[in-house]
Amino acid sequence: MNLTDPIFTDEAKARKHLEATRWPNGPECPHCGVVDQATQFKGKAHRAGVYKCNACGEQFTATVGTVFERSKIPLNKWLLANYLMNASKKGVSAHQLHRTLGVTYKTAWFMAHRLRAAMAETNPAPLGGEGKTVEADETVIGGKERNKRLSKRNPANIGAVGKSVAVTLVERNGRARSFHVAHVSGATLGPILFKNVHRKSALMTDTSGAYFHAGKQFARHETVNHGIEEYVRGDAYSNTVEGFFSILKRGVIGVYHHVSEAHLHRYLAEFDFRYSNRIALGVNDGARSDEALRGIGGKRLTYRRTREAAHA
Ligand SMILES: [Zn+2]
Repeated sequence: MNLTDPIFTDEAKARKHLEATRWPNGPECPHCGVVDQATQFKGKAHRAGVYKCNACGEQFTATVGTVFERSKIPLNKWLLANYLMNASKKGVSAHQLHRTLGVTYKTAWFMAHRLRAAMAETNPAPLGGEGKTVEADETVIGGKERNKRLSKRNPANIGAVGKSVAVTLVERNGRARSFHVAHVSGATLGPILFKNVHRKSALMTDTSGAYFHAGKQFARHETVNHGIEEYVRGDAYSNTVEGFFSILKRGVIGVYHHVSEAHLHRYLAEFDFRYSNRIALGVNDGARSDEALRGIGGKRLTYRRTREAAHA
């Protein structure tokens, strides 16, 4: 798959591709869950891609119950936006999507957020396991007040106040999972570690006291003291999660410029998804884009719909 693929210009081909990707075993009824027991309506009198379920009698398409539902945006544009976001290591801005797809900026913004929802994990299993290693680290997202022009500085934001902290867990040779936390402490990090890291894993962190108590619950807990420039000691290092942060920061600073606290978790899901489905794990741009399409169903959209997005 590349940009010359007709699924990005031909709506009927886009629909066929979405159906084949979401329904490998035949049409799945979103009303009753029955697979491959539906009849497609044919002919000009019917909208494209409408099926009638022979089990429950309800009608559906491949976009019912997904983040594409109730959108007037042609499916080929959805697939193109999805491909661009999945094929770009640092993401694609809403401004870029607006120009590339020929949709309004507002529509592009909503499309990007819906595609991020598709990338978000549902019911994620713990990372790591016996014989596996998970690195955990935290980073501050957002511009430093002292680097801003004097007129733009907010004195209340000097120091760590007013910035967003991301905590990321990375399984070596595996997946990444990130969280937006209010501040770094044992109280905020402990529950995240317990829920998302298998207890039989080796845990690698810096010497921050926030990991001290939680660390005892894992098979092994090694710390590296960045304060004395100790970065690698045997298999004790956090270079993997640092590598993830460098991609995240280049994306947030270089592409998105500014990420509001309210939306940070959505951007983190996007960077987690691309990292967890990266080429080093054998997932190319096309396979990654298809994996994102498999995630468009069953997502609750919590941001407010605007009239424009609903009719775009
Ligand atoms: Zn049904």
